[in-house]
Amino acid sequence: MLNSIAILGRPNVGKSSLFNKLTKSRNAIVSDFSGLTKDRNFGYVSIKNQQYLFIDTGGVGSEITDFSEAITQQALLAAEDSNLILLLFDASEELTSDDINLFEIIRKMNKNFFIVLNKIDIKKRSNLKDDLLKRGSGEILEVSAEHSKGIKELQSYISVQFNEFHLIPNTNDDL
Ligand code: GDP
Repeated sequence: MLNSIAILGRPNVGKSSLFNKLTKSRNAIVSDFSGLTKDRNFGYVSIKNQQYLFIDTGGVGSEITDFSEAITQQALLAAEDSNLILLLFDASEELTSDDINLFEIIRKMNKNFFIVLNKIDIKKRSNLKDDLLKRGSGEILEVSAEHSKGIKELQSYISVQFNEFHLIPNTNDDL
């Protein structure tokens, strides 16, 4: 049984950068399941002596490409299969309709999720955080995947979610 966390967000918000930052820690083993790399990457990370499986997904957005529908489907499947969803946004940009759509889809899944704003190293101000709070986002964490800011806090937050709030590990061993 694994504690699994799926990272979702539209393209370019920094999902892969965050996934790499988290999984390239000393205790991590990153495995690319060949054939699935366009859809999902899996990486094990040890936080406070517990193992977590992070799942990096392809971006969910409205731009249509040859693969976009399949990528979206895979991302949503990963979200359904995980114990916790990390919904990632780009803090330097305003909230887009794609962000809002994804936020609503995730909310309707009735699964545990939380919001992380990436790229806080970019000084440009946006209304993204306020807009998300107004939409009932709950607690918002802020990181810079590229500059390693907020990563320890993010790991602690995840550990607390699983240990203090007793997120039930998923019994789906396919992951
Ligand atoms: P994904 O499509 O959501 O997986 O996004 P990527 O991880 O590929 O990142 C998209 C772009 O954002 C790349 O050019 C990254 O270098 C950049 N990026 C990712 N994280 C950060 C960050 O914390 N700060 C800044 N300034 N750029 C970032």
